[in-house]
Amino acid sequence: MNNHVTILEIDGSALEHNLNYFKKKLNPKTKILAVVKAFGYGGDGVKIAKFLEDKVDYFAVAYAHEGIALRQEGVSNPILVLHPQTPNLQSIVEYKLEPNLYNFKIFNAFLNLSREISLINYPVHIKFNTGLNRLGFGEKDIPKILSSLKQLNNIKIQSIFSHLAASEDLEEKGFTLNQIHNFSNLSKQCYTQLGYKPILHILNTSGVVNYPDAQFNMVRIGIGLYGFGNDNIETSKLKNTHNLKSIISQIHEIKPGETVGYNKAFIAGGFIKTATIPIGHADGISRKLGNNKGHVLIKKQKAEIIGNVCMDMIMVDVTKINCAEGDEVIIFNTQEMIQNISCISQTIPYETLTSISQRVQKTLKK
Ligand SMILES: *Cc1c(COP(=O)(O)O)cnc(C)c1O
Repeated sequence: MNNHVTILEIDGSALEHNLNYFKKKLNPKTKILAVVKAFGYGGDGVKIAKFLEDKVDYFAVAYAHEGIALRQEGVSNPILVLHPQTPNLQSIVEYKLEPNLYNFKIFNAFLNLSREISLINYPVHIKFNTGLNRLGFGEKDIPKILSSLKQLNNIKIQSIFSHLAASEDLEEKGFTLNQIHNFSNLSKQCYTQLGYKPILHILNTSGVVNYPDAQFNMVRIGIGLYGFGNDNIETSKLKNTHNLKSIISQIHEIKPGETVGYNKAFIAGGFIKTATIPIGHADGISRKLGNNKGHVLIKKQKAEIIGNVCMDMIMVDVTKINCAEGDEVIIFNTQEMIQNISCISQTIPYETLTSISQRVQKTLKK
C-alpha cells in the first residue's frame, strides 16, 4: 500500500470532460480506444481504466504486464497490447489480451501458439508501417499474412491499424496525408481478400484534431485524455487531469553565507527561509528544475527550487511566504504549470507526466 504524502490526484471529471470533447469531434459510430499505457501517462492505469471502462470501447497498453494489471483489477473491455514480445504471448492469451502483430516473428509465434492450444477466432491486430518506421508490416507482406490465415480459424483480425509520425505538425501535412492514403490502400487490399471487415484505425490525439476525416472506425486517444492538445488553443479546451502535490517536511532559517543542498550549490545572500519537500529526481522532478529554474506553489505563491534537486527532495525558497511544516505544496495543477516544467526540463508534457514515479501515491477523484 502506498501511503506517501506526495500524491498525484487524477481528476475523473476532467478525464470525462476531455473524453467528451473528443467524442464531439467524431462520428457517433466511431469507436474510442483510450490509451492507458505507462500507468495512464504517469497516473494510475488501473484507476483510470476502471473510471473509463463504461465510457470507451477499447483500451491500449504498450506491454503485456500493463494489460495483465488491468485484468487483475477486473477491467473487462478489450485491451490491445501495442508492443507484445514473443515471451509474453502465453500470458496475453491467459488474460484475454489482444496482441498487435507487427512482424512475422511475432505473427508466426502467435499463430503457432494459437494452433497448439486450439484457439478459435482469437482477436489479433495487424499493424502496418506507413512511415513512422517503428513497428509494422509493409505492403509487400499482405499476401503472406493473408495466405497464412486462409487455412486457419485460430486467429481473427480484429483490427488493422497504423500510426502517424507527425500528426501534430501541419507543416508535415503532405507526409501525413500520404500515410493516411497508404493505410487506406493497404486496408482495402486486406478487406477484399479477408471476406470480413476488421476495425480500421490510424489517428492518435493530434490526428483527431488535425485529420478528423481519417477517423475510419476507431481512434486512439492518449495525451488528449490527460489534457493536452496540439497547441495552446486545443489545450485550453481541455482540462488538466494530473495534479501533483505534497507537503512541507521541514523549514530552515538560513543565515547569509550558508549553503543549501548538495554541492553547496545555493549560497544564501541574506537571511532566508527554506522548505524541504518530499519529491525529487527519482520521482520525475528533473535536475534541470534546480537552481532557481523551476518553482512550486505554496499558499498560491511561487517558491523557487534552490540548489540542486536531490533524489528524494527539493528545497524551495519560502522567505516571503507565511507557511509552516505540514502545509500543502502544489508541484503542478494546471496545464500551464506542466508546460512550464516541460519547457525548463527541455521536454514535452508526455515525458513530464510519464516521469512521475511509482513512489508517488496515486488517487482518482470522481
Ligand atoms: C501512445 C500511442 C497512442 C496515443 O498517442 P497520443 O498522442 O498520446 O494520443 C496511439 N497509438 C499508438 C500506437 C501509440 O503508441
